[in-house]
Amino acid sequence: MPTDQPPEGATDPAAVPRLSFAVPPARGRAPRHLADLDLAGRAQALAASGLPAYRADQLSRHYFTRMTRSAADMTDLPAGQREQLCAELLPELLTEVRALRADGGRTVKHLWELHDGVRVESVLMRYKDRTTLCVSSQAGCGMACPFCATGQMGLTRNLTTGEIIEQVRRAARLSAGGGLSGGPARLSNVVFMGMGEPLVNYKNVVAALHRLIDPAPEGFGLSARAVTVSTVGLVPLIRRLSGEGMPVTLAVSLHAPDDELRDALIPVNSRWKVGELLDAAHDYFTATGRRVSIEYALIKDMNDHPWRARMLADELAARGSGWAHVNPIPLNPTPGSIWTCSTQEVQDTFVDTLRRAGITTTVRDTRGSDIDGACGQLATEVLDQERAMRTR
Ligand code: SF4
Repeated sequence: MPTDQPPEGATDPAAVPRLSFAVPPARGRAPRHLADLDLAGRAQALAASGLPAYRADQLSRHYFTRMTRSAADMTDLPAGQREQLCAELLPELLTEVRALRADGGRTVKHLWELHDGVRVESVLMRYKDRTTLCVSSQAGCGMACPFCATGQMGLTRNLTTGEIIEQVRRAARLSAGGGLSGGPARLSNVVFMGMGEPLVNYKNVVAALHRLIDPAPEGFGLSARAVTVSTVGLVPLIRRLSGEGMPVTLAVSLHAPDDELRDALIPVNSRWKVGELLDAAHDYFTATGRRVSIEYALIKDMNDHPWRARMLADELAARGSGWAHVNPIPLNPTPGSIWTCSTQEVQDTFVDTLRRAGITTTVRDTRGSDIDGACGQLATEVLDQERAMRTR
């Protein structure tokens, strides 16, 4: 069991991260941004500042379609108003602290600093058939999962919709401009699997989903099925999301099919048990028609037993067929840690057991393992380096 071990990334062996739903108040407000508002709100904001409301449409198209916030690129706007329009609705929200490349330049991980000095990460990954961005929705996280470096930081604050969408705009621009090896590529997929539990930041995340899916000038116009919201299992909010009329993909970080182990691995399981979570996930499928992804990180000798694969298959089959897709995730090998990968043989047996039981199963391609791939690791490492430099 993991509870008798110090959590991943803990500096004090006695550290016990605590589950918390409280969102600490932000220190100051992030500057208002076009992506915080719908098109009508943008027009109103311009009018309130004495600017022509109808320019909101052009400004939005520059932002979402041409992926720019630079006045110099907006030659169809009157020269005398360009700077003012951009200053009003397109302030700088993200400052690059670090960019790390991996997988031969097909993966880039960014560490961003926000207006109040808070830092978050995003990871851009190019695959054969798609280019995916993993975004952060919170700075830190209050869910306290013991295997996750972000969970040890606690929650600093929710990100604004603008701060989430700027991660996407910067990545889309980088990718379209040939910033990943293999030449220019269109950003096709966005997954909320970076720092934070997206459903705790519900209002801003739902607004961000609209900006991702709604066509220009409202948003980027991505396919809803190419957008994934990943949760550790906040059951009432899964149910609320299923009623939003946006058929985005839901991913559930399950990691254990039994409450005994999941209580220790995912502290929020103390509030909503495996059965309630899978019921809500199945109802999400029924309401949206979107097959649910069940994420299962295979951790050596902890959750990778064949009986757990059978139990998982039974739990899924008990609720119907074809509604869920299991993604076993191989962990990075970490010698000496309890959070290390299963052997290939054990992984193969786990996957075969699920497939033989008729459960669609795809082992997830892990990326960025040589650049601190797990959420929160880069932020923690850069902070440690900077502390070390200050004390020199
Ligand atoms: S795994 Fe996800 S939900 Fe759990 S602490 Fe980390 S960021 Fe939060």
